[in-house]
Amino acid sequence: MPDAVRPLRVAIVGSGPAGFYAADAILKNKTLPVEVDMFERLIAPFGLVRSGVAPDHQKIKRSAKAFERTAADPLFRLLGNVQVGVDLSVGELLELYDQVLLSVGSSGDRKLGIPGEALSGSHAATAFVGWYNGHPSFAHEEFDLSCQRAIVVGMGNVAMDVARLLVRRTSELAETDIAAHAQRALEASRVEEVVLLGRRGPAEAAFDLGELQDMAGLDGVDVRIDAAQLQPALDQLETLPAGDRRKLEFMAELAARPAKAGKVVRMEFLASPAEFTGSGNKLSQAKIERNRLVERNGQQSAQGTGEYLELQAGLVFRSIGYAGVPLPGVPFDEKRGVIPNQEGRVVTPSGEAVRGLYVAGWIKRGPSGVIGTNKPDSAQTAQHMLADASADPVRRGASREAIDGLLSQRGLKVTTYSDWEEVDRLELERGQAAGKLREKFLSNAEMLEALRE
Ligand code: NAP
Repeated sequence: MPDAVRPLRVAIVGSGPAGFYAADAILKNKTLPVEVDMFERLIAPFGLVRSGVAPDHQKIKRSAKAFERTAADPLFRLLGNVQVGVDLSVGELLELYDQVLLSVGSSGDRKLGIPGEALSGSHAATAFVGWYNGHPSFAHEEFDLSCQRAIVVGMGNVAMDVARLLVRRTSELAETDIAAHAQRALEASRVEEVVLLGRRGPAEAAFDLGELQDMAGLDGVDVRIDAAQLQPALDQLETLPAGDRRKLEFMAELAARPAKAGKVVRMEFLASPAEFTGSGNKLSQAKIERNRLVERNGQQSAQGTGEYLELQAGLVFRSIGYAGVPLPGVPFDEKRGVIPNQEGRVVTPSGEAVRGLYVAGWIKRGPSGVIGTNKPDSAQTAQHMLADASADPVRRGASREAIDGLLSQRGLKVTTYSDWEEVDRLELERGQAAGKLREKFLSNAEMLEALRE
C-alpha cells in the first residue's frame, strides 16, 4: 500500500486505564486509518482496575466496561504475556511500529529511607494491595498478621484501602473477588488496631472524604481522631477550599463521637516514622517523630520537632506513593519517577523529542489521580500522536505479519483478547463455585494451563 494510505500502526505498552483510554481516542479518530496493538506482560488486562482497586470497591471496577468496548474494535489487538523490555525492547518496537505509546504505570514503590525499613514486618502498601488482589507479582508475598497493631505510613487513598482491608469484617469480603489466600489470612488476622500516620496536618491529608466516610461507616470499626490535633486546622476552616473544609468537618464529627466497640483505626497527624526496631529481624516497634507545619515555597511542609514517641507494632505498611520504573533505552527522570515528556511526547534530557515515542498515565505525570483522570491525560497524548502522524505521512513500521513472525520466532506464547475472555469466564465460574464474584488465577502460567485444559 502507498505509505499515506496504509494505516498508522501504533503499539501501546501496558493495558491499564491510561493505555485503554489512549487506544480508544486513537481508534475513534476521524482523520487517519489506524491499527492498535496493545502489549501486556500479564494475560489479564486492565492494570490497577483489576489489581489496584480494592475488592470491596466493585463499583469503581465498572470502568472496565468501557475498555471492553474498545477491545471489541476489530482494529484493536491485545498481545498478552509479552514483557516489553525483556521479550522485546522499546527500540525494536520503534522499528516495528510507526508510533509507540508507553502506558506502563508506576510498578515500583517509594521508600522511607529510615533505619529498620528492611525488617521483616515492614512492607510496601503496594505489595499488600497486589497480594489481596491476586496480582501475579505479589500473590506469593507473606504478611504476618499475628500482631495486635499495624501502622500505615501515609494518608492517601491507598493508605485508607490498606487500613480498611485490615479491619473490615472478613464476612463482608468473602463474596468479592479478593484472592482466596488473602481472605484466609485476613480471617486468621489478630490485628485489632491500625494507626495511620500523616506527616502533615489534617487539612493536608490526601485521602478523599468518601474514603473516610466509608471507613467510618464500617460495622465494628471505630475511627479515632484526637480533637486537639484537629483544632489548629479547624481554627482556619474558613480559609480552606470547600472540599478540604468538608473533610475537616467530618473529621471533627468523628472526633466528637463516643468510642465504638470493635477494631480501631487511629489517625495520627504531624507524625513521621524515624526508625523501626525489633528483636532479631522481626519488627516490633516504631520510633515516631512529632512534626510541626512550616511554610515552604507557599506550601505547608512537615518539619521534625525533635520530640519522639514509641509505638509497639508488628507490621508497618509504607503507603507513601507508587514509583515509576525505568525501561531500558528510554529516558527517565529519576527524581520524579517519570519518563520526561512534553504533553506526552517523550523527550531526551536535553529536551529533544524522541521520534515516534509517547507516554500516558502515571509514567507520564507521576502516580496521582483516580482512574478517570487518565481519560483527558491519554486523550492529550493521542491528539499529539495523531497530529504528528498527519504531519509526517511516511509510515515506517512493519506489517502485522512481520510483527507476529518475530514474536513467534522468539518462542513467545502470545495471548489474545479472546484468551483473556476465556480466562475471565473461567474465573467467574470458579468464583460462582466458591460463592464469590470471581476467583482469580494467580499467574500467567496458571492461566495458560487453564486455557490449555
Ligand atoms: P497519595 O495520594 O499521593 O498519598 C501519599 C501519602 O503519602 C500522602 O499522605 C503523603 O503525604 C504521604 N507521604 C509521601 N511521602 C512521605 C514520606 N516520606 N513520609 C511520610 N509520608 C509520606 O498516593 P496513594 O495513596 O499511593 O494514591 C495514589 C493515587 O491513586 C492517588 O491519586 C489516589 O487518589 C489514587 N487512589 C484512589 C483510590 C480511590 O479512588 N478509591 C484508591 C486508591 C488510590 P504528603 O501529603 O505530606 O505528601
